[in-house]
Amino acid sequence: VDPKFIRNFSIIAHIDHGKSTLADRFLEFTGSVSDREKKAQMLDDMELERERGITIKARSVTMNYKAKDGNLYQFNLIDTPGHVDFSYEVSRSLAACDGAILVVDAAQGVEAQTLANVYLALENDLQMLPVLNKIDLPSAQPDVILEQIENVIGLETDNACLISAKTGEGVNEVLEAVIEAFPPPSGKNENPLQALIFDAWFDSYRGLIILVRVFEGRLARKDRVKFMATHSEYEIDEVGIFEPKMAKTEALEAGQVGYVIATIKTLDEARVGDTITHAKKPCAEPLPGFKESKPMVFSGLYPSDAADYANLRDALDKLQINDTSFVFEPETSIALGFGFRCGFLGLLHMEIIQERLEREFDLDLVTTAPGVEYRVTTKSGDVVMVDSPSKLPDPGHIEIFEEPYILGTILTNSEYVGAVIKLCEERRGIQKKLEYVSEDRLLIEYELPLNEVVLDFYDRLKSVSRGYSSFDYHIEGYWNSNLIKLDILVNGDLVDALSLIVHRDKAQNRANLLTSKMKELIPRQMFDIAIQAAMGARIVARTTVKALRKNVLAKCYGGDISRKRKLLEKQKAGKKRMKAVGQVQIPQDAFLAMLKID
Ligand code: GDP
Ligand code: MG
Repeated sequence: VDPKFIRNFSIIAHIDHGKSTLADRFLEFTGSVSDREKKAQMLDDMELERERGITIKARSVTMNYKAKDGNLYQFNLIDTPGHVDFSYEVSRSLAACDGAILVVDAAQGVEAQTLANVYLALENDLQMLPVLNKIDLPSAQPDVILEQIENVIGLETDNACLISAKTGEGVNEVLEAVIEAFPPPSGKNENPLQALIFDAWFDSYRGLIILVRVFEGRLARKDRVKFMATHSEYEIDEVGIFEPKMAKTEALEAGQVGYVIATIKTLDEARVGDTITHAKKPCAEPLPGFKESKPMVFSGLYPSDAADYANLRDALDKLQINDTSFVFEPETSIALGFGFRCGFLGLLHMEIIQERLEREFDLDLVTTAPGVEYRVTTKSGDVVMVDSPSKLPDPGHIEIFEEPYILGTILTNSEYVGAVIKLCEERRGIQKKLEYVSEDRLLIEYELPLNEVVLDFYDRLKSVSRGYSSFDYHIEGYWNSNLIKLDILVNGDLVDALSLIVHRDKAQNRANLLTSKMKELIPRQMFDIAIQAAMGARIVARTTVKALRKNVLAKCYGGDISRKRKLLEKQKAGKKRMKAVGQVQIPQDAFLAMLKID
């Protein structure tokens, strides 16, 4: 294939603006799928992705397009996940592209992830083609939204396409526009091989599948290649393209995107971001790689049934093969037993991993409240990363206590601005920007501690603005903060699973809340139970669960047998899931309720 006739591009969009639908139309219009194979959203192949309507793993597909100029073009469409948690994956997919189609819902307009994706495209020096989708909707306002794109994003809209991915209207024009809007790849087959690994995953039949963009040179079957970061060498077993099914080819040429299979055992050997070159005639320099993605949100995962510990470990191992951005290590808790401390890119990432564990591995899990990683500098000058309150050095030894901050971007309707600002201020936010993007729509930026965002910020934002807000963020860095550790004691014994790191201004309030909630949740027992909250040695809140005097069944006066039976059954079920803290039996449910408190 002459590179002149190749175009490598992605579709970027805010969630639900129609990226997957447009990708489906492309496959259909280029004849890449037969009618029999047609089903909605062909690129999202994981069951969970389908249900949640999101794309988790980047994929690519090669389409042949017969253009109006009579030439046959090879379009490589590289799919990207749309959510902020996966911006790292978006970024590395974009590194394989020369252009990006920016899809914007013609009724909704520019949203937070539209902006986030645009920034990523700009970082990768990509040309952008604006496409207004859903013009079939009565509420579509193409003119208003085009102006938004010019004003907020600063993108020329002369070549914008107005389409309905649903009906197919205008989709052919987009395919034509791609040829003009995006440059062809610039590499040459004669040059030494430089192929960028931008994705890799394990397939149960084929083993490790590596997705590459060949920037320079030609990569053929049987070639002996070198992975530049690890220096390991392999013979290539197979190369090919996704059409969208895997289709073997003789070689991948300069400018092409496709897959590579060699007998590689671990993902470690073929790192995403690494460059593949020929062992005999290597290129001088590897391609620029990617920034490492770092887990930012942490939580404990415990099997509900301790007997499932080994199964959980196996499941986590398997998930990590597919998703190296997810990390875990063993952790024990007095309250919850043996489990794992896990790190995720963000909240959605965490939810998806938990859901996959429960669904694909049939595990019943207890999850602790999500937290962030703090940075502590001790008086002796050591820097310690603290992802769990139990790892915090003695408060007397702490010199500097820092927490991660984000810059959050919110788009909302003018009538909700007050409520949104109030929410951000409650969460210790610092306003950075507030501007109109169109008549009744505003862009608001806040610096916020990530810790104030991880629990329920997004849910609260949606509820205070009745769904009319979008939110996206990126990490700004670690800032000094007035933080302390809050402990919960039951009859003098520390309940480690309930310790937390909080801002001092919020500590007393949290202490009161936790102790009173705990009081409701611990069943009365044969003796008084003191529940205390402590900051260091200082007790700051206290409640008591009074000793039990009467039999629970006494409440049921004779008559109602079924109610009695229900109570007995409930007691029995409850007993199975009790955890002992010192002398005190605490139902597991109580822990869960506490860990979910806000
Ligand atoms: P994605 O999250 O960007 O991949 O968005 P999807 O392609 O999954 O589309 C989100 C929703 O919008 C789905 O319910 C689609 O059926 C719908 N949708 C996509 N394109 C259009 C369109 O042109 N018109 C209308 N009315 N709905 C559309
Ligand atoms: Mg989608």
